[in-house]
Amino acid sequence: MIGEAAKLLARSRFAIAFTGAGISAESGVPTFRGFNGLWKMHRPEELATPEAFRKDPHLVWSFYKWRMDLIRKARPNRAHYALAELERMGILKAVITQNVDDLHREAGSRNVVELHGNIFRVRCTSCSYRENLKESGRLDEFLKERDLPKCPRCGSLLRPDVVWFGEPLPRKSLEEAFRLAERADLVLVIGTSGVVYPAAYVPQIVKETGGKVIEINPEESGITPIADVFIRGKAGEVMGELLELVRGLANE
Ligand code: NAD
Ligand code: ZN
Repeated sequence: MIGEAAKLLARSRFAIAFTGAGISAESGVPTFRGFNGLWKMHRPEELATPEAFRKDPHLVWSFYKWRMDLIRKARPNRAHYALAELERMGILKAVITQNVDDLHREAGSRNVVELHGNIFRVRCTSCSYRENLKESGRLDEFLKERDLPKCPRCGSLLRPDVVWFGEPLPRKSLEEAFRLAERADLVLVIGTSGVVYPAAYVPQIVKETGGKVIEINPEESGITPIADVFIRGKAGEVMGELLELVRGLANE
């Protein structure tokens, strides 16, 4: 299975990766399902919505600050590094991610398309103000503040710059993702349940335009029925091995 995947990758002309929360699980960032019971009595699906934010911005902000703090301490794992290395080798052309954790870029991936935003960015609920707290160096101060965060430009409430359930995806990122999927002759699908649309169209577009679908997941997902190769396992372990095999083939 993994040998077949390595051959397909080594032979591909335009490979892309499509990742979900599972790729960051070994970095200590729980998938949404992994959150159950971890965070008070609320399900993340009930907190990551515009309705929840309108009803109780304090609750939603404390959830997001808790996640920001957890994610800032997380480091990329072998799967993130392997994707960055495949890009440097010229094999992988882009990573399309549903994650908000920034770990692909931390690992060195350059062409990253974020479909669901970024946990370190905030934006104003009224004007066009946006800030990346990691880049502006204000993250520590932001996490310590107990009052609700306000826009420095207009004074309105700030919100996390992530896509909540029921909200549209950022148009430019989605268009870029679909363009890449149409060009791709192979997609590596890693750690996603493949049930969140429109993101889950990405592997389907690759398949429909004649490309190969390689999936890595400890469990079957919504993508498994269209996978040409399904590798059951954890992202870090499988990607470490896959990278070695591809390197071997590239040197032949
Ligand atoms: P998801 O829909 O991407 O599902 C997680 C998948 O990862 C499952 O199929 C599971 O079998 C698989 N998985 C678990 N451990 C794995 C491992 N070690 N290696 C490979 N695969 C593994 O994600 P979700 O948790 O249902 O969340 C839905 C959305 O919530 C995401 O698309 C994202 O926008 C957001 N989210 C982001 C993060 C993050 O940025 N790290 C974390 C949680 C949720
Ligand atoms: Zn504002």
